[in-house]
Amino acid sequence: MTLFDLSGRVALVTGGNGGIGLGIARGLAAHGAGVMVAGRDPAKNAEAVARLRQLGARAHAVEADLAQEAGCEAIVARASETFGRLDILVNNAGTNIRKQPQDYTLEEWRTVIDTNLTSAFLCSRAAYRHMRDVGGGKIIMIGSMTSLFGLPFAPAYSASKGGIVQLAKALASAWAADNIQVNAILPGWIDTELTRRGRAQIQGLHERVEARTPAGRWGLPDDLAGAAVFLAARASDFITGTALPVDGGYAAQG
Ligand code: NDP
Repeated sequence: MTLFDLSGRVALVTGGNGGIGLGIARGLAAHGAGVMVAGRDPAKNAEAVARLRQLGARAHAVEADLAQEAGCEAIVARASETFGRLDILVNNAGTNIRKQPQDYTLEEWRTVIDTNLTSAFLCSRAAYRHMRDVGGGKIIMIGSMTSLFGLPFAPAYSASKGGIVQLAKALASAWAADNIQVNAILPGWIDTELTRRGRAQIQGLHERVEARTPAGRWGLPDDLAGAAVFLAARASDFITGTALPVDGGYAAQG
């Protein structure tokens, strides 16, 4: 096996039916992994599977609400039953509710925290046994620039993305002895459904991001594939508990 070859490996990508998750799923599939994508929308799931199969990938989808414990347990079980093993988990499913902190309800807070942070814990917990049984595994958390900075209109989102980096460190420390590496990717501003909604809501956001990003553009879902393949592959076997910005330099510029 070469450093970046994922042949024979099986990946579960939460929120893999669109946006960043699908960009990552495409990258993993192109390097040989079988891929299970998980999301709530059956039409998006079917479309994603069709696109992954066009790449020649072994691909399936599972419908689940990952804000629920049962949903997290079910997708891990399904991936492992369908492919006979589970090597890679990408905790990518996420959402945002944009409001000032003083206007946030507890229900809104819980929706964002459950979807972005608690689901990552629950899916990782469920995946642990399967990875240990095959001699190791890779867990990739999807953080954000809000893992580093706070956004005034996204208190729960910022808290969830800060938490996910610390969760990666805790799991990395706990499971290193089982040869499971846990790392986070921190995407910059990427053009997806999520941020299209954000740009419709927050005036001037598109231009502000473009002006502040040294690369001079918004990212695309496929920009995340390289880092994900690296963190899913043998190439990163001695790397665990880290958080890697993939942001066109956004976080580097003061
Ligand atoms: P999208 O809205 O395009 O994708 C979100 C994905 O999550 C969809 O596949 C959606 O599927 C799934 N999802 C959301 N809620 C649930 C749920 N309760 N149960 C199951 N699946 C769910 O957004 P992005 O691709 O932009 O976001 C992907 C990740 O990247 C998120 O964690 C986001 O926070 C993060 N991120 C995004 C950035 C960006 O600029 N776009 C920047 C930094 C981080 P479905 O609707 O079918 O349930």
